[in-house]
Amino acid sequence: MRYSQMLLPTTKETPSEAEVVSHQLLVRGGFIRKLTSGMYTYLPMGFLALQKVTEIVRQEMNRAGAQEILMPMVQPGDLWEESGRWKKYGPELLRFRDRHDRDYCLGPTHEEVVTDVARRELQSYRQLPINLYQIQTKFRDEIRPRFGLMRGREFVMKDAYSFDVDDAGASRSYEIMRQAYHRIFERCGLEFRAVEADSGAIGGSFSHEFMVLAETGEDTLVICESCSYAANVEKAAIALAEAAPSMEVLRELVKVETPGMKKVDKVAEFLKVEPAAVIKTLFYLADGVVVAALVRGDREVQSVKLKNLLGATDVEPLDEEQIWQQTRLPVGYLGPVGLELKMVADQEVMRMVNAVAGANEKGCHLTGVNPGRDFTPDVVGDLRQITVNDRCPVCGGGLRLKEGIEVGHIFKLGTKYSEAMKANFQDSDGQEKPFVMGCYGIGVSRVVAAAIEQNHDAKGIIFPVPLAPFQVIVLNLGPKDEGYCTAAEDLYTQLRAQGLDVLLDDRDERPGSKFADADLLGIPYRLTVGKTFEKEGKVEIRSRKTGETQVLSLEEATAYLA
Ligand code: ATP
Ligand code: MG
Ligand code: MG
Ligand code: MG
Repeated sequence: MRYSQMLLPTTKETPSEAEVVSHQLLVRGGFIRKLTSGMYTYLPMGFLALQKVTEIVRQEMNRAGAQEILMPMVQPGDLWEESGRWKKYGPELLRFRDRHDRDYCLGPTHEEVVTDVARRELQSYRQLPINLYQIQTKFRDEIRPRFGLMRGREFVMKDAYSFDVDDAGASRSYEIMRQAYHRIFERCGLEFRAVEADSGAIGGSFSHEFMVLAETGEDTLVICESCSYAANVEKAAIALAEAAPSMEVLRELVKVETPGMKKVDKVAEFLKVEPAAVIKTLFYLADGVVVAALVRGDREVQSVKLKNLLGATDVEPLDEEQIWQQTRLPVGYLGPVGLELKMVADQEVMRMVNAVAGANEKGCHLTGVNPGRDFTPDVVGDLRQITVNDRCPVCGGGLRLKEGIEVGHIFKLGTKYSEAMKANFQDSDGQEKPFVMGCYGIGVSRVVAAAIEQNHDAKGIIFPVPLAPFQVIVLNLGPKDEGYCTAAEDLYTQLRAQGLDVLLDDRDERPGSKFADADLLGIPYRLTVGKTFEKEGKVEIRSRKTGETQVLSLEEATAYLA
């Protein structure tokens, strides 16, 4: 590609809303332009980068035996009613009606649609296992779209779905995907970790997130210093909460030592445990009581009473349906014992205050419950804080916390969707059985941003070679000089013939701005036809990553990059 002909509008200005470096550099480098909140146009440079990721993902999915399909992005509400998610999904699901007044949504994910495909097209165990995937635009009406491609509302995802005859088969399919994901992110040239994530009802370690390590990541990884344990902070919190103090100890403490309302902190301090562990234990011995006041911003909009109201007078009872109607928050019950309210609230605008948690027994309740600190993630969102003072739940070793960006997520689904949607096949014994499913996502567009978060310096992007839109940029510093032009053109032709993606900077610009743009765009190798060419007929080759330079003849330069 010739720079002079490419739509590559680099700028010096950084948009004020761009808080993270990938967002800043993608805009400054002319990769993306914002259409509206959370939606971006990929200009040619951005699209080339996206295609690099797409191609690696596609090759490895195909190699793993998955088959590529393409499903509609618009999905009928009926299917979501069938799966039970029409109500549960919450406001990230963008819903709308067509001219016949039928409900639709924009696909944030495709379990419903692919399960519908399976129940129509797969009848026999002979057709299984099968793994279907697509690379496609998703829409999620994120509450706070930000960070450019990191958290868009419209973004590109690779989503795959496996169908198996039984649980053992599903585990094999899961393992194949887990390995494929390792290959994908290794081939991308990224530093990443696979961590255990919460697999909800399925249990076991059947969900992993793939995290690109970067300080700006929104996720926290918990990594053991002594064994191979690695989990996301939510999953680690669950494992640690299971090591809560015994009920007997807490019951005695709450009853005897601390009659009446007691601050969680004090109890936790006394027991030398995290407040979350106290809360968790208390819920077990409680007869299922929680009172929580919800606020949106500073204005109190909700009060919830689920069973017995203890020690609070200023709350108004609401049932699940009312909560849903008013807040569009998914609410679910966790069972008769323990905390009965489960809210997946966005911590940034929605927080619970003045919560009182406790039991039916006098004196068995606590004030000063801080959901951002005390509730365990299997109870309310991902709120538990883990500190370096916690010990590894597997070996008791020390824990390290690291920031990461979730670029992939694999999940064993079991029969959740196939049962709800009556997606069955006939097994070898003639029985009708529901498919055992798995789902596997990669945030393709987020990978581009994550690569930049991990690899950049003050001058711009430093693309890992496999993800670079161009591997080489040839700078012609004498665009009006025939000798320079011939040399630059020769290099350009020769390198392209070697199969490299090459950008020829043939613009009539000052050398300083050509160097600055080459650095900003992050192209791994820069070949300069400049002063050394005039003096000794040689070009300078420079690595963007190491800054190492060498002066080589044209032949040596092309051989070097071969
Ligand atoms: P997050 O925790 O960041 O909101 P998620 O867990 O909701 O992500 P999944 O449902 O697991 O996302 O989707 C699969 C992958 O899609 C994620 O691992 C992530 O890489 C990507 N992804 C999810 N939401 C977005 C978004 N808003 N913008 C870009 N990529 C996204
Ligand atoms: Mg999300
Ligand atoms: Mg996530
Ligand atoms: Mg996820």
